[in-house]
Amino acid sequence: AVCVAAAWAAGAAFLATVVSSVDRVTAAAREIAAGNYGAGPAKRRDDEIGELAEALDGVSAEIERSEKVKNDFISSVSHELRTPLTAISGWAETLAADVTDPDSLEAKGLETIRKESGRLGGIVEELLDFSKLGAGHEVLNRTAFDLNAELAETIFMMEQRLAQDGVHVVYTDATGDAPVWGDRQRIRQVFVNLLDNARGFSKPGDAVDVTIEESGRTGFVAVRVRDHGPGIAPEDLPHVKEKFYKGKNSRQGSGIGLALSDEIVALHGGTLTIQSPPGEGVTATVELPLYER
Ligand code: ADP
Repeated sequence: AVCVAAAWAAGAAFLATVVSSVDRVTAAAREIAAGNYGAGPAKRRDDEIGELAEALDGVSAEIERSEKVKNDFISSVSHELRTPLTAISGWAETLAADVTDPDSLEAKGLETIRKESGRLGGIVEELLDFSKLGAGHEVLNRTAFDLNAELAETIFMMEQRLAQDGVHVVYTDATGDAPVWGDRQRIRQVFVNLLDNARGFSKPGDAVDVTIEESGRTGFVAVRVRDHGPGIAPEDLPHVKEKFYKGKNSRQGSGIGLALSDEIVALHGGTLTIQSPPGEGVTATVELPLYER
């Protein structure tokens, strides 16, 4: 009986080490899936599990390398595009100043050149931002600020733009001060992106509902931007935060807005969630940790 018990104990102990090794490999695989490369399991076994861990390391290194190549490519292409685009829109403006008849073909052509090069310039800036943030080159310029005030200011700034499309913002402030420790400009960029998406998918007369409140998650504040547009198709929804992903309802844009916003929010220790219950438009929720002094 003693012998059987000892064998049992040895078997159980062996099983426990196998399970914990598998757990470590699984944890490492999850890290890779979450985009954290190069964090393979530290302790190695000299068996199939060890081999699996090694293979996983290889995959991780390969993904990291190709991410870097992609980032460098995006960054150099955007840099190359920046200068000529500035020249194109600058010259269109200069030439337009000499055109006296605003209804002439020249005036309209130059206005199109100016507008479209401006739009392209916006995409290029987004791409540059993305490669900088993605490569971890740019650190956040953090200060303590009131998220509530920042949101109100952004809405004030954007209201005109939405009004031009007949869309109005309904703002509900259900919290007092909401201090966060973060990069104001970047957070504003997230709000601008979300409001701009909501605008793009709304009809004249539609409302965009913006709320700020305490999150269900303790110590977090939640900002929601909800539109009453057509929503996102269920098959698109899991992908809209991916880089360059454009849903089948997409009109213009590079498909980078939400990916960039997600990256910015994640760098702040928060989350960006996109929901689209059928027939109820889109709700984008930004949750950020409150700053405790
Ligand atoms: P872009 O920068 O091109 O706007 P985004 O990353 O912001 O790209 O959005 C990705 C895709 O998600 C869009 O192409 C669109 O299909 C979908 N989407 C985003 N916001 C909304 C919204 N408010 N309503 C409907 N679809 C949306």
